[in-house]
Amino acid sequence: MPAQSALTDQTPAHVVIVGAGFGGMETARRLARARVRITLIDRHNYHLFQPLLYQVAIAGLVPSQIAYPIRTIFRHQANLTFRMGEVTAVDFEARFVKMDGSVTAYDYLVLAIGGQTNFFGLTSVEQNAHQLKNVTSAIQARNHLLKMFELASHEADDTQRRALLTFIVVGGGPTGVETAGALAELIRLVIAKDYPDMDLTEARVLLLEAEDHLMGAYPPGLRKATFDLLAKKKVEILLSTKLADFDGVKVTLGDGRQIASHTLIWTAGVRAAGLADLLGVQQAASRRLVVQDTLQLSGHPEVFVLGDAAYLVDAGGQPLPMLATVAQQQARTAAQNIVRMLSGRTPANFHYRDPGLLATIGRNAAVARIAGLSFSGFPAWVIWIFLHIYRLIGFRNRLFVLINWAWDYLLYDNQVRLITRD
Ligand SMILES: Cc1cc2nc3c(=O)[nH]c(=O)nc-3n(C[C@H](O)[C@H](O)[C@H](O)COP(=O)(O)OP(=O)(O)OC[C@H]3O[C@@H](n4cnc5c(N)ncnc54)[C@H](O)[C@@H]3O)c2cc1C
Repeated sequence: MPAQSALTDQTPAHVVIVGAGFGGMETARRLARARVRITLIDRHNYHLFQPLLYQVAIAGLVPSQIAYPIRTIFRHQANLTFRMGEVTAVDFEARFVKMDGSVTAYDYLVLAIGGQTNFFGLTSVEQNAHQLKNVTSAIQARNHLLKMFELASHEADDTQRRALLTFIVVGGGPTGVETAGALAELIRLVIAKDYPDMDLTEARVLLLEAEDHLMGAYPPGLRKATFDLLAKKKVEILLSTKLADFDGVKVTLGDGRQIASHTLIWTAGVRAAGLADLLGVQQAASRRLVVQDTLQLSGHPEVFVLGDAAYLVDAGGQPLPMLATVAQQQARTAAQNIVRMLSGRTPANFHYRDPGLLATIGRNAAVARIAGLSFSGFPAWVIWIFLHIYRLIGFRNRLFVLINWAWDYLLYDNQVRLITRD
């Protein structure tokens, strides 16, 4: 293997990491002291804290508060070079990645390319819905949401005005629940103050979920708590409801019912990032790349795949969830395995330690399962706030987000109510 011969040659092995999200960044950090040379590649020059993207969409935070320049993060890591660019192919035999017309050879490759929105073939939804997956899509959603209130404020036709003020969120997982709850509060507590002449009781937030419950991964008690907390915030929840079509002005449900609305936010699916389809290796559900227990690609022990892009089942036979915690833990295993291989040892298997579940439903409301204990309401919300502040990168971001949230909480005011584009 080139990696081993590199070791005997006394030149550090070259580790190429594609993706500077949760998994890629953690892998790079864990290899800081290893005798390797790292090239970290990402199509963006920043690491994005995706769990707070919905806050950008509901005008609560600006993108720079949840994103951080990769070069700044690794400023002091001497064995790492960052390259911004899109990897378009991997030659597993010759061991190089292709990017922007050039090739980069590797001894070890870590694919931490994450995921993208899965529309399950619903073309009309893909064309007309908003999604929360990157900075651009979150800003587009914010611009659109705010514009609906501007248009509604001078719309004399009752039917048309109600359609402008009907907001539909699809997907009853944590992102959909968080978005629907926050949107309902934005309308009731903030927008209502900006438009004193408008009757905002006309505004509706609907949450559509295909299953007969919200928050599938959560225990039944917390699913019910989520339902009750959302209902209290006047979110209309439609369970066992499938979406069939959205043409930009009306939603058609699976049973043929139609709802006039100009806004659909799709949070109902994630699949592995597009590069996964171009690699010619085995894919499973959600087009994730099948990996061995050691996170290596079968037949390519020098290639590791982790995070949202990797398909691995847990002890119960269920695919590991697409969560930042999974990606970060897998990153530690992948980094350790590279170090083990460099010293001639066999790679170790990955075991996921579930740290619990936590999702917010808006002001003073969240649901949590931590250390086997399930609870909801204010205590869960406080934990959610401080955990998310802690997990953000950069002291300045932590401070500004905390100040922002305290401001919003005390003054009922979302700071970023700017329409920055048509
Ligand atoms: C709105 C939202 C809310 C979420 N909330 C939570 C939560 O509360 N808790 C939780 O644990 N998880 C949450 N998640 C999931 C979590 O963000 C993902 O599981 C996690 O980001 C996966 O990490 P990753 O390293 O696999 O991929 P990512 O963090 O997505 O990173 C992948 C990186 O690869 C780069 N990339 C992709 N393809 C290429 C290419 N071809 N060339 C170059 N670069 C490429 C991307 O630009 C990206 O930076 C949420 C996700 C979303 C979208």
